[in-house]
Amino acid sequence: MAIIVQKFGGSSVADAAKVENVANRVVETYREGNSVVVVVSAQGDTTDDLIEKAHEINKNPSKREMDMLLSSGEQISIALLAMAIEKIGVPVISLTGWQAGFATNSNAGNARINKINTERIMAELDQKKIVIVAGFQGLDKYDNITTLGRGGSDTSAVAIAAAIRADKCEIYTDVDGVYTADPRIAPNAVKLDEITYDEMLDLASLGANVLHNRSVEMAKKYGVRLEVKSSFKKVDGTIVKEAVSVEKMLIRGVARDNDVARIAVIGLEDKPGIAFKVFSLLSKKGINVDIILQSIGRENKKDISFTVTKNHMQEALELLEAEKDSLGYEEITHREDISKVSIVGVGMVNNPGVAATMFEALYDAGINIHMISTSETKISVLINVQNAEKAVQAIHDKFLI
Ligand code: ADP
Ligand code: ASP
Ligand code: MG
Repeated sequence: MAIIVQKFGGSSVADAAKVENVANRVVETYREGNSVVVVVSAQGDTTDDLIEKAHEINKNPSKREMDMLLSSGEQISIALLAMAIEKIGVPVISLTGWQAGFATNSNAGNARINKINTERIMAELDQKKIVIVAGFQGLDKYDNITTLGRGGSDTSAVAIAAAIRADKCEIYTDVDGVYTADPRIAPNAVKLDEITYDEMLDLASLGANVLHNRSVEMAKKYGVRLEVKSSFKKVDGTIVKEAVSVEKMLIRGVARDNDVARIAVIGLEDKPGIAFKVFSLLSKKGINVDIILQSIGRENKKDISFTVTKNHMQEALELLEAEKDSLGYEEITHREDISKVSIVGVGMVNNPGVAATMFEALYDAGINIHMISTSETKISVLINVQNAEKAVQAIHDKFLI
């Protein structure tokens, strides 16, 4: 007898047949004598469709109303799954995020979970019910509905697992585990039996959306053992945990992130304090800057390029344009048709030549690099978006085949 949290993503509950498939799997776990809490996402493309509906009416809706709208997707899924389980004849109850006790901060659209008041969940489990909880949502202290950011249902599941001290947290999805690269992009990608929290966190943060990065962060913090597995096939998945016993690979995986925009501020005066001025302007507005490149000065001028997520680009441009006089640059350029491709792995620490091998793979594939960023355990390059998939394949196969 164990307490098990199972999370099913949007593609796993996309239609009636899939909801029934999930119901059967959940009931199977329940009938083995376990206490089961199930977290579900909105069906299929529901969240994208809701965003589109919003934009048909208002291109710039408030974040509060957006969260009100988006949270409805998960509410549909929990009710449908509960009905499917009722039909099988097993006691079940569905709970929205707020009924399940999710208290978040007020950062609408990307809220953080402060606490889960687990009383209701525990009381329902005590009554031998399967408890189904809407992922991706909570309530702030002013009773506004909040959402946790795209892909956030994974984080809901891990947060519940930590709060009720579950024995296991299983993330069911449309692939059967974490691969060395997105298997939809790299046909030669292989499934990993195990991966460390740190490597998974790097991969997820660099675009491998198989897990929400904050779910991994939270799993590490609370020591929640995660397993990523298939909703459709009954095969072993990938275990995410603190340390793995598998042979150390030079790199663990390749990730791609298309949510990148590059801004270049050209012809800045080459004097101390300029970079500080540019980046403090952005950080004051909560705009996170990723890769930064400063060109070597010429004739007392220099250029600074940097990347932000696409949703921050417009605001960043407006801020810089408003400060044109005080910053004293010549012009600003920007582009969105770019992608960040990264490699991740603790094996690259103290292994010179990893970067060279990555660049060689790109050279062999005829792909030009715009920017580079490195740390001890990861290397990222910025390239044209139309080359991104080819780059993932080339880099993957160079290191991992
Ligand atoms: P869900 O709706 O179940 O949350 P997601 O679409 O969020 O599913 O995540 C699963 C997808 O993640 C897969 O379909 C796959 O295309 C993508 N993915 C990206 N990188 C990886 C990787 N390294 N391993 C496995 N899947 C990956
Ligand atoms: N439905 C939300 C999304 O599409 C949350 C999730 O799927 O995890 O982003
Ligand atoms: Mg997801």
